[in-house]
Amino acid sequence: MGLFNTLHLPAPCLGCGVEIPLVLQFKYAENWQHAYKINDQLRWNSRHPRYNDGKPGSAHVVISAISEDCPVCKHDGDDYLIHVYNDVLISIEPDDQRYNFFDAKSDFLVLEQ
Ligand SMILES: [Zn+2]
Repeated sequence: MGLFNTLHLPAPCLGCGVEIPLVLQFKYAENWQHAYKINDQLRWNSRHPRYNDGKPGSAHVVISAISEDCPVCKHDGDDYLIHVYNDVLISIEPDDQRYNFFDAKSDFLVLEQ
């Protein structure tokens, strides 16, 4: 429940293969419906840290994200990984399940402090 952020980038839909304006939902940094693009810096709420997931300044974080509807085929719900380096959204990839977010009970993992 609650607020999340989105990352917007052109990428092929995993359902139909058409390059679409892919939208990924994620919870990390300040969760406040921020709409980001690749290479954007994450925003943190320094006055109210309870609105943040994680802490600013980690060298490498991987976030579990989920895709919104494809505008072409309506496919949705694919799992993705977002890689964040030094609080900048750098890259995405389809989630190959090599990270265990379930056991971590978290939607993100700090890979390098
Ligand atoms: Zn599609």
